[in-house]
Amino acid sequence: MTPPADRTAALPHIMSMQGYAPGEQPRDGVFIKLNTNENPYPPSPQALEAIRAAATDRLRLYPDPIATEVREAAATLHGVDPGWILVGNGSDDLLTILTRAFVGPGDRAFYPTPSYVLYRTLIELQGARPLEVAFREDWSLDPAAIAGAVPGASIGFLANPNSPSGTSLAPAVVADLARRLDCPLVVDEAYADFADADCVSLLNDCDNVIVLRTLSKGYGLAGLRLGYLIARPAIVEQLIKVKDSYNCDRLSIAAGAAALRDRPHIAATRARIIATRERLVAALRGFGYTVPDSQANFAWCTGGLPAVDVFAALRARGILVRMMRYPAIEPSLRITVGTDDEIDALLQALAEIHGRR
Ligand SMILES: *Cc1c(COP(=O)(O)O)cnc(C)c1O
Repeated sequence: MTPPADRTAALPHIMSMQGYAPGEQPRDGVFIKLNTNENPYPPSPQALEAIRAAATDRLRLYPDPIATEVREAAATLHGVDPGWILVGNGSDDLLTILTRAFVGPGDRAFYPTPSYVLYRTLIELQGARPLEVAFREDWSLDPAAIAGAVPGASIGFLANPNSPSGTSLAPAVVADLARRLDCPLVVDEAYADFADADCVSLLNDCDNVIVLRTLSKGYGLAGLRLGYLIARPAIVEQLIKVKDSYNCDRLSIAAGAAALRDRPHIAATRARIIATRERLVAALRGFGYTVPDSQANFAWCTGGLPAVDVFAALRARGILVRMMRYPAIEPSLRITVGTDDEIDALLQALAEIHGRR
């Protein structure tokens, strides 16, 4: 008898792909955690109160499939009709919904690189081909060159502000790119809450722009899993067919809506993080690193002492940062903006590592 072929093999394109490796999530309290761009400050007290109020026997019941309360809060915030909003279980869920809706087997989808590594994973999951277009040395993009390099692409993903660089493209440049494409352009604004500008106003004139937001970074709710996108209602209607029926739970919906409505809270958090960010970037440059001006809640370091050594030395001192490895770029460090105390501890540790005391 011939042995059966592997009866449990997944599809060939799944078997051969790498899979996305999320940043390390250690047990609570062990490290100063500056590795996955979480907010060091607590979420809105009104969000926590909304969770307590929603934790009742009504959890027997399925949640609102389209999270109307969050939809309305986001619509009010951005000055659009609720039909322009789709709510997701984190913006990663929305990225999955978008690739499922727009990218088929054998298709091509593009993103500038280096950027958020999940885009590649999601494209590969569809049995499609990732097209990487390089940022210029100064982290700018040439819209005409990109549009020319990705003919027939099914969708494009642009993290703006970008990770790991922290840099941002002006809305006019993003609009220029969107107009030249014959596919949707997803502008992933996970870090827009820390930036000077955003691309929401492009939705007026560019019918192929889809803007993505998350409550994980600016709102300090990474543990909740909530995000939303803003797009033409005709697009949102198609995406609703693709999403899981109940992709957001009752507690997330209640807390997310409350967090979006608490404008003073996010304004205060944003101001604190930006102030600490500017101090962090200047100090890192003082240690000899090359650090682009950041529009996000992290700083990206190249040059200086080897990242592998600095990462290990920081880890030994109880400080966790993110080692970034991209093809054609030396290993680098991405450091999240923590509280002032956390950043003081980081800078103290770096001074020791650099032999400055
Ligand atoms: C953090 C991050 C996300 C994921 O956000 P979630 O809402 O937590 O899924 C998406 N895109 C980029 C660029 C991010 O950095």
